[in-house]
Amino acid sequence: MPSYCYFEGQIIPLEDAKISVMTHALHYGTALFEGIRGNWNEAHQQVYIFRLQEHMERMKNGAKVLRINIPKTAAELGQITLEVTKRSGFKEDTYIRPLAYKSSKALGVRLHDLESEFLVFAIPWGRYLDTDACRVAVSTWRRPDDNVFPPSVKATGLYINNALTKTEAIENGFDEGIMLGPDGHVAEGSGENIFLIQNGKLITPAIYNSILNGITRDTVITLARQELGLEVVERPVDRYELYVADECFLTGTAAHLTPVCEIDRHPLGNGGVGPITAKLKDLYFEAIKGNLPKYAGWCTPVF
Ligand code: PMP
Repeated sequence: MPSYCYFEGQIIPLEDAKISVMTHALHYGTALFEGIRGNWNEAHQQVYIFRLQEHMERMKNGAKVLRINIPKTAAELGQITLEVTKRSGFKEDTYIRPLAYKSSKALGVRLHDLESEFLVFAIPWGRYLDTDACRVAVSTWRRPDDNVFPPSVKATGLYINNALTKTEAIENGFDEGIMLGPDGHVAEGSGENIFLIQNGKLITPAIYNSILNGITRDTVITLARQELGLEVVERPVDRYELYVADECFLTGTAAHLTPVCEIDRHPLGNGGVGPITAKLKDLYFEAIKGNLPKYAGWCTPVF
């Protein structure tokens, strides 16, 4: 089945959407992306796009920082995304990739005096971290300070930092790397936020601890508080706390909620999926598949 792409104002087959080698974003990383999931619900015979509006709002905020002019509201971008996903027609788990980029065919390091474009396409995509027992290692690469580059801006150029982390982890035999922030506190994985559970409490680095303000992170915090009555603390997290945690898991649109069983070769808890992680994971999957009426507002049906 062909994928479609919204490109330069029209929906066309993905394979026909092509850019020039002179495109500014290709040379200087001057683009913003989002990762959005469409989750297949077999019983409903439906794909639900998860938290579409929030993803588009995050992109609009990033656009302010990179001075990418997208002359459309978050809701309008969401509508285009919905149309492209519907047109692609996948009746399975889908990954949606919007990109806002400096499209001028121009060289020169800058953000000003450049044209911008927005594109979006959808492809079938299942698991990202292909494990339920993730083995992670603290990375030698650090997440940048907000004054180096704001980590909550999903700029393509910044993802070289994430790619260095991921490849280091894989080449060293782990599934994912955990980056510390500039002050040495725990920040996040190369494509996921991190949560610890200690004495029944959920602990996660705060927004100002050099992390991406994850939408899955917010989802899990909401479900933990509202459905399980758990205390959630957002604060600086020491590296030490990783090793003594009862449970740990990663969250991200691509990674979903992935339990961590080992950090720097220290086994966590009893080595399996912890009880609170298991409950949160079940709730999370029910929410994203559109099975929790209370959270139906998070799910946009495609068909
Ligand atoms: N941190 C980083 C560095 C990421 O790339 C991602 C994936 N977007 C996340 C956290 C998780 O964010 P979200 O839950 O919004 O996908």
